[in-house]
Amino acid sequence: MLRLWVRSEFRIAKVLCVSGAVSVRCNGSCSGASARAWVRPSGAATGLKTFNSLTKQKEPLILAREGVATWYSCGPTVYDHAHLGHACSYVRFDILQRILSRLFGITVIHAMVITDVDDKIIRRSWEENVSPSVLASIYEDEFKRDMLSLKVTPPAVYLRVTENVHHIVAFIEGIIRNGHAYATEEGDVYFDIQSIGDRYGKFVGAVDPQGEAGSTHKRDSRDFALWKRSKPKEPSWESPWGRGRPGWHIECSTIASSVFGSQLDIHSGGIDLAFPHHENEIAQSEAYHQCGQWANYFLHSGHLHLRGSAEKMSKSLKNFVSIKDFLQSYSANEFRMFCLLSRYRSAIDYSHSSMVEARTALGTISTFMQDANGLHEGPAALHACTGSISLGESG
Ligand SMILES: [Zn+2]
Repeated sequence: MLRLWVRSEFRIAKVLCVSGAVSVRCNGSCSGASARAWVRPSGAATGLKTFNSLTKQKEPLILAREGVATWYSCGPTVYDHAHLGHACSYVRFDILQRILSRLFGITVIHAMVITDVDDKIIRRSWEENVSPSVLASIYEDEFKRDMLSLKVTPPAVYLRVTENVHHIVAFIEGIIRNGHAYATEEGDVYFDIQSIGDRYGKFVGAVDPQGEAGSTHKRDSRDFALWKRSKPKEPSWESPWGRGRPGWHIECSTIASSVFGSQLDIHSGGIDLAFPHHENEIAQSEAYHQCGQWANYFLHSGHLHLRGSAEKMSKSLKNFVSIKDFLQSYSANEFRMFCLLSRYRSAIDYSHSSMVEARTALGTISTFMQDANGLHEGPAALHACTGSISLGESG
């Protein structure tokens, strides 16, 4: 059963030979590394392999420090109830982290950012007639309770965007200093895509040449905002470019760097975050640190769909089941088993019948564990446990 559990989820396998696995690693000083090619990190080989979205294939998992995996994940934007789509992503990565730590003895140091200022939070706060900070605080607390209900191991540290704006401003200043961002007359700051040449587009095939909407003063339509000037009634902070607030992508680059420095082993998130969010995180971080490879492994989880729907479950599509509602009908362990019945990278169909399947599978494993415990404790205990099987029959 244990083997099935590991194989069906992580798909990291002991590699018999990883000799020769050492190559060039960015450590914050390797400016000039060529283009988008992934560079196999130097460091401590774990003997494991993991699928890396940067190369779209399994790669040897090599950590900067032996026995320690630094892991950053994009957390929730807290403006509404968390739903099963979120739950699925966080439970799947929790399983991976538990496999790394419990089966392979690797200490996972996990940091997660809570996005507590954002267009959606501001809009919702106006609708609800509360301040953005109050709204964000309510849903952050609820998110943490939901994760505990689902038995998801909390990260070593949660960090909020609003408490790190000074770090973000300094990070943006560093990117400007390095020649990779510019301020407009209007008080916005944009990342300068052309300044990094053909390095942009690490998640090949996902590039949107249109870029995000924004100022007509952008040098390139793909340039994205690092800092947005404040609009009336919006939360804002002082900066060298006037009052404003951070763009979305910059929070992750800054906060991950403030925790882990210029090198990150593993970065995770839902597949919808690969582009543009993670692409832009990479561009910013490598521009700031002047390095060729900031995060060595990107793990992306597949979407959760309501069965029969082509759309992913999402708040904006209003097709979601909240975690709280779900737990009225099913248990956290049943949901975990539901997640284990597919690869973490796969899209997953949610329905009552898929939950029945998960419940049955969990029941089978529970019975097996009871029987195994009974066998360990002796024939009498086994008989009491199963009520039917005797050791005499099984030989
Ligand atoms: Zn992020």
